[in-house]
Amino acid sequence: MSSTAPQDTGAGPQRLWSVDEHLADILAAVRPLEPIELQLLDAQGCVLVEDVTVPVALPPFDNSSMDGYAVRVADVAGASEEFPAVLTVVGDVAAGSGELPTVRPGEAARIMTGAPLPPGAEAVVPVEWTDGGTGGGAATGMTAASQAPEGAEGEVRVHRAAEARAHVRARGSDVKAGALALEAGTVLGPPQIALLAAIGRGTVRVRPRPRVVVLSTGSELVQPGEPLTEGRIYDSNSFALAAAARDAGAIAYRVGAVADDADGLRATIEDQLVRADLLVTTGGVSVGAYDVVKEALSAVGDEDEPGGGVDFRKLAMQPGKPQGFGSVGPDHTPLMALPGNPVSSYVSFELFVRPAIRTLMGLPDVSRPSVRAVLKADKALTSPAARRQFLRGAYDPVAGTVSPVGGSGSHLIAALAHADCLLVVPEDATSVEPGAELEVVLLG
Ligand code: AMP
Ligand code: MG
Repeated sequence: MSSTAPQDTGAGPQRLWSVDEHLADILAAVRPLEPIELQLLDAQGCVLVEDVTVPVALPPFDNSSMDGYAVRVADVAGASEEFPAVLTVVGDVAAGSGELPTVRPGEAARIMTGAPLPPGAEAVVPVEWTDGGTGGGAATGMTAASQAPEGAEGEVRVHRAAEARAHVRARGSDVKAGALALEAGTVLGPPQIALLAAIGRGTVRVRPRPRVVVLSTGSELVQPGEPLTEGRIYDSNSFALAAAARDAGAIAYRVGAVADDADGLRATIEDQLVRADLLVTTGGVSVGAYDVVKEALSAVGDEDEPGGGVDFRKLAMQPGKPQGFGSVGPDHTPLMALPGNPVSSYVSFELFVRPAIRTLMGLPDVSRPSVRAVLKADKALTSPAARRQFLRGAYDPVAGTVSPVGGSGSHLIAALAHADCLLVVPEDATSVEPGAELEVVLLG
């Protein structure tokens, strides 16, 4: 299959770079994006860059945790089914109520969940511990708070005693004013966004999601949904990688397939620079006659300036041997040129582009998690010498085993679609027996 000659680690064009060297070069060149102030929902999944303190206590006032009656403890002491405490209902307190009735000895106020505890009241008895009240608003039931007349009158019979503060959520019991709500570096998921909203923050300072432009190249490519003509295939890479970029946290812009024409590709890349924090191309990086990505990028890449230009190299990896990485345009926008075979481009994305996106976001874990698993297969896997091979697999977390899905061909999209992990066969292994342990990259 491939050469068993020792790996060339010199500097020449034949040099093979390891997966780790290539990733290290990419991560060394990519810097987290500058923070910006974003609306809460736009900040989802982003990394907070400020310590957020709580401006006002949460909850901001003592309030009821139940629908019921706000009472004075002494008035309901010793109350029972047989000998209920009979209290005069002096008003209704709904969530959001501003003006509150004062509860004096022998009185109660009907209260709804979340409503402020009225002055004089010391506890809330749930409506289930009462007869539900008679007369005034109480007679209409607990659900019709808005229909209850001001200063609802009538009586309520309370069947149980209540301790002080029973069913009362104290001011500041969630979080106190001045406390640290969220620390810089926190990744904002739904619960963190809930807290920010609850303490009244409309916007937050975060590292934004990178804008990733995905471009596929190839004159054979047809947009899905259009008729397929002789000798052509549908463009799957730009969809796969735009979806993968989103999955990694980016805002993805998919540019349809660009024909194998260096001028056209150059023009498209220049057009896209305005909305790109990272450009990803697929195809046109091997040694065929129409591999235009190299040709096009050497002219866009500002090689005269420090950090400019795109470097094409061969990796000791299968699939995904040819790779390009560098920067283009006046802002040195990073660009990653991936091979065209669908599995190659996807595996390359997972190994190199995903970490770059997550570095731009300032996220702590840039790579997919990996585990060790026992190979479950009918026969030994074979792998080229001196290449790190990534096979598609199905991982069984209960058994701790992994099975190959489909073969090693880098055109096998259907197998990829049924896999959930990559099996890693190390450089020094040319075969792996069933029962042997392997590293497995979980694709999530
Ligand atoms: P290339 O590296 O451009 O020579 O492409 C390698 C192989 O991948 C060829 O068989 C291409 O037809 C195929 N290929 C390239 N780009 C795509 C794409 N966007 N979608 C599906 N297949 C592709
Ligand atoms: Mg091509």
